[in-house]
Formats: sequence, structure tokens, C-alpha cells
Amino acid sequence: MKSRLLIIEDNPRNRYLLTFLLTNRGHEVFEAETGPIGLEMAIEINPNLILLDIQLPEMDGYTVMRHLKQHPELKLIPVVAVTSYAMSGDRQKCLDAGAEGYIEKPIDPATFVFEVEQYLQASDEGVR
Ligand code: MN
Repeated sequence: MKSRLLIIEDNPRNRYLLTFLLTNRGHEVFEAETGPIGLEMAIEINPNLILLDIQLPEMDGYTVMRHLKQHPELKLIPVVAVTSYAMSGDRQKCLDAGAEGYIEKPIDPATFVFEVEQYLQASDEGVR
């Protein structure tokens, strides 16, 4: 199933890798390098899922997530945090902030797309 995905990530190499892996599987990918740009793009493109970095300049990922989850339409889009904060408790912090999922960096290119597709599938089943 082809999906539209939005990546909010400030590191160009990470954006490139995620986009490469996802477009390779036929998904349509949009990239934003800051939270505010990501929020604007989310409204514009209404993605099926958002991949959100937590360590972002200007506005961190938790703040972006709060904005997403307070928005009447955007709050329905599943958000998967993709973050290198390896400290224990960070996963819970992301889930508490409203994320549907959490993928740790560095990502594993062999399993990353599969993980993302699991979250897409889960959100589809939730709608039905
Ligand atoms: Mn970052």
C-alpha cells in the first residue's frame, strides 16, 4: 500500500536516508527541516503518517507533537518519533506526548520501512 509520509528532521543525511528507504518501497515522502515548516506542510498535504525527530532547532519535537495533537484535524495523523535520545524514559516521554510509536536512531535500514508500515497498518485498522 502506497502512503504519503511527512518527515520532520533537521539532519539532511537522516532525511536523505529515510526518504531513500521509503520512496524505494513506493511511498510518497515530503520533507521538512523544522517543526514550524512541518506543521505547515502537515496541513497542506494531510500525510498518512508523520516521522518526527525530537532534537530539532527552534521548536523541539515534543512541542511539535503538542501542536499536532491539539489541532482538530492533524491530531488524527499517527506520529512516530524517530530519535537518538537513548536515555531510558525517553520512549515513555514520546508516548506520553501523544506519539503512536517510537523508532530509535540510528535506524536499522533492514527493518525501518517494515516498522513504519506496521504503524501505518495499525492506524488503518484503528479507522475501520
Ligand atoms: Mn535532529
